[in-house]
Amino acid sequence: MNSQNSKKKSTNFIRNIINEDLANGKHSRVITRFPPEPNGYLHIGHAKSICLNFGTAIDYKGSCNLRFDDTNPSKEDIEYVNSIKKDIQWLGFNWDGEVKFSSSYFDIFYKYAEELISKGLSYVCFLSSNQTREYRGTLKEPGKNSPYRDTNIEENLTLFRKMKAGGFKEGECVLRAKIDMSSSFMCMRDPTLYRIRFETHHQTNDNWCIYPMYDFAHCLGDAIEGVTHSLCTLEFQDNRRIYDWLLEHLDEFNKTDRPHQYEFSRLNLEYATTSKRKLKLLVDNNHVTSWNDPRMPTISGLRRRGYTPASIRNFTERVGVSKVNSFTDVSILESSIRDDLNTTAPRSMAVINPIKLVIKNYPEGKIESIKAPVHPQNEEMGTREIFFSREIYIDKEDFTEVQPNNKYKRLAINKEVRLRNAYVVKATRCDSDKDGNIKTVYCTYDPDTLGKNPADGRKVKGVIHFVESSKAISSEFRIYDRLFLESNPAKSDDLSSSINPNSLEIKNGFIEPSLLNAKAEKAYQFEREGYFCRDSESEGLVFNKTVGLRDTWNQ
Ligand code: ATP
Ligand code: MG
Repeated sequence: MNSQNSKKKSTNFIRNIINEDLANGKHSRVITRFPPEPNGYLHIGHAKSICLNFGTAIDYKGSCNLRFDDTNPSKEDIEYVNSIKKDIQWLGFNWDGEVKFSSSYFDIFYKYAEELISKGLSYVCFLSSNQTREYRGTLKEPGKNSPYRDTNIEENLTLFRKMKAGGFKEGECVLRAKIDMSSSFMCMRDPTLYRIRFETHHQTNDNWCIYPMYDFAHCLGDAIEGVTHSLCTLEFQDNRRIYDWLLEHLDEFNKTDRPHQYEFSRLNLEYATTSKRKLKLLVDNNHVTSWNDPRMPTISGLRRRGYTPASIRNFTERVGVSKVNSFTDVSILESSIRDDLNTTAPRSMAVINPIKLVIKNYPEGKIESIKAPVHPQNEEMGTREIFFSREIYIDKEDFTEVQPNNKYKRLAINKEVRLRNAYVVKATRCDSDKDGNIKTVYCTYDPDTLGKNPADGRKVKGVIHFVESSKAISSEFRIYDRLFLESNPAKSDDLSSSINPNSLEIKNGFIEPSLLNAKAEKAYQFEREGYFCRDSESEGLVFNKTVGLRDTWNQ
């Protein structure tokens, strides 16, 4: 994390709060936590929360816990637990001590629930869910007290123990906090603390049939772990009242250094969704192949696409931390990876829409080996071997029979271009198939132009890339577009209506031989084409386009 530490971080309102808390002695050390629910893979929005929680802990020499908020066994899975751990570490962060689970506190939580009941602050309620809704009232009208609100303490304890022992059916009753049915905060109108679920839990198996609600488990988990600053997204703003109420009413936690919750704005990315539920729908309905499909805004999807941890960290830094919800332009994410790869990615050549170029005055059977720089601005990255012969592949887009205007800097009949890292060539004629598609272009080369300008001083403006044909390796290229046509696809609940049907285009072309052993997920710059990395889930040579060389969306 040194690279991150050395950069000056922009300040934010959370850091201001922490500075104050440390200055006035409320806390002597900062402890944060990242609390994912293991009900899906992490996405770019989580990356913001991860960078904020772990990053803040690093900056203040404190610690950050990873705590799985695993209180809903019906939606959770160990596959998600494992992917979340992997993604956090890949982003470059480490949690303090062992991985924590809310479920490992179920015994302690239960004890605190009994404490609340014993204080007359919690009761078992048998209203049906419809009745509960009716009793809750509306934003304009106060709610009504449940008829079970005044059950005596002894009876409540007996009922709650019976709930725990499996003596009631799912949905038959819940444990509620006795707060205020006329509160202007709906969430304070006697919120549910525990519900019955006869489900096997990925950590606690069948030990429990009552499960705590998020609002109960979260503040207690924070307090048990000594978390000082509990950072979450704005939708929990109202719930902060329950957070405070619960800790203030439990003897052990009612003290000045108890944890406090602070809310920041969610990251929303344009043309994407950052809801695990919706991302899961995309997978389940086969709109994408998997959670790590390179089109997904998941951390694993971005990794497979060639994004680097540093680019994602820098992106979250650019987005910043505020209290205003907004949509972030995808181009900010794309420019973060472009900036990183521009300096770090090795250069190479690949021809995505190949046509043959035959160099008529080049000796037949000769193959020339040329040393090309791995990075033209960074000699230290060394050289790679490329080849040149009488027959090479160039991109169809780089040739036109008739030069349209003087701005055209590629190959045309009777025009010259330089082949990157090699010679200057001049096209003479071309062959087309019966449908008029150009198949082969013929040219001559100037043997005296390898690594130097033409001796007679004539100017050759264009440069195109190529791959020598006998050494070329067939490869598949997967070119991605945005997954959605709408900038805010979550506007409608039916995501499928805004899915971009052309978000994946598959092309078959050639790569230079130095790419044969390209490592998966490590991006290269394919000169003039963009950044690409080898796909981690494919057997053969398949390259995913990470991002183009320029922002073509905002032009
Ligand atoms: P989702 O709606 O995708 O399921 P969630 O909030 O339920 O999101 P959690 O697993 O509970 O997902 O999230 C773990 C942490 O990440 C929480 O503290 C949450 O506030 C934060 N988080 C989730 N989504 C975003 C986002 N888009 N931007 C910033 N932080 C987020
Ligand atoms: Mg959540």
